[in-house]
Amino acid sequence: MKSVSVFGSTGSIGQSTLKVIAHHRDDYDVRVLSAYSNVDQLAAQAREFGAAKAVIADDSLYNDLKEALSGSGIEAAAGEDALCEAASEPVDWTMAAIVGMAGLKPLMAAIERGGVIAIANKEPLVAAGALVMESAKRHGATLLPVDSEHNAVFQVFDSHNKNAIERIILTASGGPFRTASRDELMCATPKQALNHPNWSMGDKITIDSATYMNKALELIEAKILFDVDLERIEVLVHPQSVVHSMVEYADGSILAQMGAPDMCTPITHALGWPERIEGPGAKLDLSALSELTFEAVDHERFPAINLAYDALKRGQAACLALNAANEQAVAAFLDKRIGFCDIVDIAGEISGKAEDLPLNSLDAILGYDTDMRGLADHAIAAVSSKRTEAA
Ligand code: NAD
Ligand code: MG
Repeated sequence: MKSVSVFGSTGSIGQSTLKVIAHHRDDYDVRVLSAYSNVDQLAAQAREFGAAKAVIADDSLYNDLKEALSGSGIEAAAGEDALCEAASEPVDWTMAAIVGMAGLKPLMAAIERGGVIAIANKEPLVAAGALVMESAKRHGATLLPVDSEHNAVFQVFDSHNKNAIERIILTASGGPFRTASRDELMCATPKQALNHPNWSMGDKITIDSATYMNKALELIEAKILFDVDLERIEVLVHPQSVVHSMVEYADGSILAQMGAPDMCTPITHALGWPERIEGPGAKLDLSALSELTFEAVDHERFPAINLAYDALKRGQAACLALNAANEQAVAAFLDKRIGFCDIVDIAGEISGKAEDLPLNSLDAILGYDTDMRGLADHAIAAVSSKRTEAA
């Protein structure tokens, strides 16, 4: 039996991970599950999977969790420190599926403990890539990409022939506004932006998909994980979301990983790795596909990807700032304080202000992240008050 922990178990990736584990119930011993504030869902998951411990990140909910777990023998814990402590407990396999920079500290704790870490939580890789990768190397931790594009690249990446890699081609669905005009984008509502055509995901990443900021973050994530020259990483819009990404080699071969748009597939790949195991993911019926199409990104309507290329050229602080401002701006958009196009404008503005700093410790990264969020909040407040005046 392998021991596993799932951080962010109540989220979209967390629930899919438990669905995959349920498919092999006798093979996995669930140790830790965690959530931010949904006590009832977390307690129900912990009971269903016989977890050893459940951690709620919002520490004001400790008593509620304890009560919800009473009589189960499952340990209750709460708060950020408890989350990091739980992440440092030894297990064979960890799923990092918290959303945003909130996942960085538990991720670092899990890495320091070693073992296999399946990483869905892309924001820490974007903001603290060098630190994460160096720590994984130092502690002998294996990071397995779960983001569907990066999992696809990982599956077709010939590391013995890295020099022969011409291009990594990340595919993008195009999201709900692929064919929308700039005017339509300007007045897009949270409800419209949350209506993704192919994937069912958490709110933050769904908004990121609509703005193409998800692909921007994924470009940085790919650079961090696969370390190929930036000129060799490209993005192509592929509305069917069947080809999850590709690698092109010097001999002209392009290797692609395909599958239904179901996160259970990359999660199953990461859980079984280095073996291939059966999973509950939807199977692709190739004969039912009428077409697979590819088109270039329209950078005029969707400037986010170019912001990521620019940030990568300028260094880690610019990548961190892009991510921090985007997280604040997405929350403000969902709150209806700013408009849809303001999200990427603000992320670009704040990233442009980032200095070329050596962010080589967790404290330095968290400190700069706080500073950049402060700048983003100012920019958001300015846009928001202009909107109120105009209304
Ligand atoms: P989600 O919002 O559905 O779930 C997030 C999880 O993190 C929940 O369990 C929530 O309780 C927990 N959480 C939120 N804030 C927290 C905090 N401050 N401290 C501790 N825990 C907190 O998100 P998701 O869609 O499952 O995405 C999770 C991560 O995986 C994101 O980084 C996302 O970019 C990445 N990802 C998601 C998908 C997808 O299909 N959903 C695909 C690729 C990558
Ligand atoms: Mg993705």
